[in-house]
Amino acid sequence: MKSIGVYLILPVAALLSAGCQSNKSIKQSHAMNEKSTPAVIKSNEEWKQILTDEEYYVLREAGTERPFMGKYTDTDDKGNYYCKACGHLIFTSDTKYHSGCGWPAFYDKAGKSAVITKMDYSHGMTRVEVLCQQCHSHLGHVFEDGPADKTGLRYCINSISMEFKPDSTTGKP
Ligand SMILES: [Zn+2]
Repeated sequence: MKSIGVYLILPVAALLSAGCQSNKSIKQSHAMNEKSTPAVIKSNEEWKQILTDEEYYVLREAGTERPFMGKYTDTDDKGNYYCKACGHLIFTSDTKYHSGCGWPAFYDKAGKSAVITKMDYSHGMTRVEVLCQQCHSHLGHVFEDGPADKTGLRYCINSISMEFKPDSTTGKP
């Protein structure tokens, strides 16, 4: 019976990982802070007033944008990435790299209080979900196939969950 279960799950997993390497070993330590309370709390109606339908689907319903379609996938400009829902600083261009998996990838978060992680067992997979630390909106997932000479992590983040502000517009050198 076991092999039937695997057979059924594989096509879904293959579809969702869409070219990314598989997440072979997930450390439970990623999920240690999932019980924290968000500093920014809004009702679903309030979020719907702030966000577009697509943004709401990804950020508040843990949706995933289509690969290679997001506006920041290939962005190399220097600057900061903020949570689209609440404006919290989540990633910077300093740790962004080209993973080839179709979504913006970072090998580290923008400081200790940028994001939190949570175990995600949806779609027949075991993954680690990445949420904004401040409002707990869904940003993407973190995998352990990132650059080995850095952290070894790959934060795979939806473009639509972020707002990029280039250094040239914020006065940073
Ligand atoms: Zn946020």
